[in-house]
Amino acid sequence: MDKRCSSRTRRGRGGPGPKGVSAFLLLGEEGQGFSIAMHSLDKGRVSVGAGCAGIIMGCLETVVDYATQRQQFGRPPASFQLIQDMIADISVDLDAARLLVYRAADLIERGEPFGVEASKVKYYASEAAVRAANSAIQIFGGYGYIDEYPVQKYLRDARVMTLYEGTSQIQKLLIGRAETGVSALL
Ligand SMILES: Cc1cc2nc3c(=O)[nH]c(=O)nc-3n(C[C@H](O)[C@H](O)[C@H](O)COP(=O)(O)OP(=O)(O)OC[C@H]3O[C@@H](n4cnc5c(N)ncnc54)[C@H](O)[C@@H]3O)c2cc1C
Repeated sequence: MDKRCSSRTRRGRGGPGPKGVSAFLLLGEEGQGFSIAMHSLDKGRVSVGAGCAGIIMGCLETVVDYATQRQQFGRPPASFQLIQDMIADISVDLDAARLLVYRAADLIERGEPFGVEASKVKYYASEAAVRAANSAIQIFGGYGYIDEYPVQKYLRDARVMTLYEGTSQIQKLLIGRAETGVSALL
């Protein structure tokens, strides 16, 4: 699968020299690297969640336009209850994803711990974006599968969101550990 419009560039040429990282390049304290890297992932997870909310919003706007404007056997697809069922799910997922993003962003702004909330954003919003894009393709019917309309792109864009910055399984393990105090991570 391809994720279009995503620039993937090579960064960070070369690794540490034979004597390790020079003092000039050291971020934070020696020995804290893993913790710093994990903390930066937490913020990335909120950003991914915000991007997913954007994908869901794109899905909602696109399907509402299409389902209300297309005429099929003398009526718009929006007049079918089962089409409205899918549109309602997308709408609720959009609100839920947005609110989870806002909660985590608020914690970041106030300097409060936000790791678990970031995992919840990442897990919920990415899975919701896949659901929304999949439903959008369904609502478009055959047009959803071809690249004349944007919904096939939304599915490609959404699908990778459940993988990078920690897969959905890893987010659930982090949330489960926070709830139980027991780590199921290897
Ligand atoms: C387009 C794209 C861009 C990326 N960009 C970056 C980047 O900029 N920087 C970067 O560092 N990485 C990047 N990645 C890598 C991405 O973070 C990893 O692919 C992702 O973390 C999953 O790791 P993996 O592919 O090694 O899968 P694996 O770790 O091999 O996982 C395979 C499967 O096993 C599951 N799994 C793994 N461990 C456990 C466990 N303990 N318990 C239960 N299930 C488990 C996973 O959820 C997954 O379903 C990118 C990936 C993609 C696709």
